[in-house]
Amino acid sequence: MTAAGTGDNVPMRLAVYTGASLGSDPLFAEAVRSFATALARRGVGIVYGGGHVGLMGVVADAALAAGGEVVGVMPQSLVDDETAHPGLTELRIVGTMHERKAEMAALADGFVALPGGLGTLEEIFEAWTWLQLGVHAKPVGFLDVAGYWRPLLDAVASMSAAGLVRPEYRDAAVVAQDADELLARFAVWEAPRRRWPEPPAPDGVPAPTGSAPTGSAPTESAPTRSAPTRSAATGSEPTRSAPIRSAATESAPTRSEPTGSAPTRSAPTRSAPRM
Ligand code: AMP
Repeated sequence: MTAAGTGDNVPMRLAVYTGASLGSDPLFAEAVRSFATALARRGVGIVYGGGHVGLMGVVADAALAAGGEVVGVMPQSLVDDETAHPGLTELRIVGTMHERKAEMAALADGFVALPGGLGTLEEIFEAWTWLQLGVHAKPVGFLDVAGYWRPLLDAVASMSAAGLVRPEYRDAAVVAQDADELLARFAVWEAPRRRWPEPPAPDGVPAPTGSAPTGSAPTESAPTRSAPTRSAATGSEPTRSAPIRSAATESAPTRSEPTGSAPTRSAPTRSAPRM
């Protein structure tokens, strides 16, 4: 699935994780505003936590102002605490935090962490680790505003040097300075090989690499190797050094999906993630 009028592998909708606070540096709000505006102008929709507070609220306001699609997913328990955004394209109310993350992951073609706190970390690390386990094959990235994520990425590099994070999974996460760079890198991104060997087929013959694993995954979802953002999930080695194609061309959203319509509160859902 790609954004209209853009390159083949540019995601149509990104899960955006960011802080429920504004942080101490005004640069954070400025950067996430520019990021969200750029996504909207390129026709890339946003799925996020649904709040109107902190950097989350800045992202939603900016994308909506630029005509973008913004879907919020929020557990009922947070609707008041995080002040559900009243102007979203769609607001989905779910039962639990786990359902929120599963719903966001199912709706998104890729994941990005903007500056944020513990919640942001938890969300992006789940997406990153699900990639390693082959639960999904969608790109994961960090918007490194003013070096915000550098200490964390250095820690992961150190963990990798210690032999506890495989280089291919360390390198699978894209680190970008702005939306152009992130989308360009996502456009050529390929999923790393699934961590565990493919389970044997019933007749004892291992399933071919890249096929949907059938072993037990950490979630109730059916894992898949096919990424909607990519033309083919090859299961090949990661391609950090792959040439960066030109970023998607600027275009207003042209999807037939609802944009700017009145928010729709869907009934609480308990459906399993569809990835
Ligand atoms: P923070 O980065 O801590 O400011 O939180 C950003 C967002 O992450 C907020 O919408 C929180 O509700 C959400 N969040 C916090 N903890 C979790 C969690 N364990 N699972 C899912 N979302 C979370």
